[in-house]
Amino acid sequence: MGKSIKLFRINGIPIGLHPSWFIIFVFLTWSLANGYFADRASSLPFTGIWALGIVTSLLFFASVLAHELGHAFVALRNRIPVKSISLFFLGGVAEIEREPDAPGEEFRIAIAGPMVSLALALVFNSLSQVSGGLPYMGAAFDYLARVNLLLGVFNLIPGFPMDGGRILRATIWKLTGDHYQATRAASFTGQLVAFGFIAYGVFSVFTGNLMNGIWMGFIGMFLLNLAGSASAQARLQQKLDGINVDRVMNRHYPSVPGEATLEQLVSETLAENSQGTFLVIDNEKPPGILTLREITKVPRHLWSRIRAREVMKPWERLIQISPDTPVLTALQEMEAADLRMVPVVEGLQVKGILSREQVRHYLKLRTELGS
Ligand SMILES: [Zn+2]
Repeated sequence: MGKSIKLFRINGIPIGLHPSWFIIFVFLTWSLANGYFADRASSLPFTGIWALGIVTSLLFFASVLAHELGHAFVALRNRIPVKSISLFFLGGVAEIEREPDAPGEEFRIAIAGPMVSLALALVFNSLSQVSGGLPYMGAAFDYLARVNLLLGVFNLIPGFPMDGGRILRATIWKLTGDHYQATRAASFTGQLVAFGFIAYGVFSVFTGNLMNGIWMGFIGMFLLNLAGSASAQARLQQKLDGINVDRVMNRHYPSVPGEATLEQLVSETLAENSQGTFLVIDNEKPPGILTLREITKVPRHLWSRIRAREVMKPWERLIQISPDTPVLTALQEMEAADLRMVPVVEGLQVKGILSREQVRHYLKLRTELGS
């Protein structure tokens, strides 16, 4: 998913809207105004019906946000940082910084969201009972009660990556003590659920319910994709478990002097260095890292004037990994810092370079050697 537009923070968590959210917001408001409220509040004027549609739509997305905040607050309580919460066209997503360490944590984080939705269903249901003086709001509350109930129940379907799938994973994890096996089992049920959605979508299209069918198919494809990559990732993590950085890192990385110009780098060194990563050794500064990404940011006509030390990622902006760090930990740290590669250091000495490509290469070799 691409960048979200940041709105505000709640408890330090940035809340954002993905551009795709605006489409679904307009669509929901439109269908509420033209369908639900045109029917339930037909005596209202046109503007009233639309105002009701907008308010209800906003309250719906506030409910989705509350669901995600449920996950996020429990994650924070378990000392797992929450990067952000975004609303997008399929709902909301709370991006937590790392996977929980224990099945109990995962269970509590996963169940918190649906609990919030079910509680909101009760609250809106009570509001719809007592809003006798405001009959139109009664219709809105009634809708919100039902949609929150649906949100709670739907998310409890036991297919990863849905909340119910996470609950299933936590349960298997608790019972077997094997996190990878649990992830693979929960991803498998996730794929089954996703195929179910797609099949239902296709069925709906052929029975004349085009919009509903496309929508279901879309959700199915989305879930299938996530479940598949979770399963692949579990398999990968299992292979890397217990392996330290020094087994995987590249010791033969090219180094270049800090005063080399980009022109020199590209014409002289790049041909022999297919990875496009350089360690920049400079007498005036601690070493830095230069990749093709930094080089291509500089306009070509300046390459003869700009020196490696001016555009390299400096020492203090790199995370440093020691040779005895587990590869999985290193990958997590790289992910969190959005780095494709890091120097492997002991003291101030660089021992090698670890990149995601390097890890992929290592896994491929191991697969080919059948180990
Ligand atoms: Zn959830």
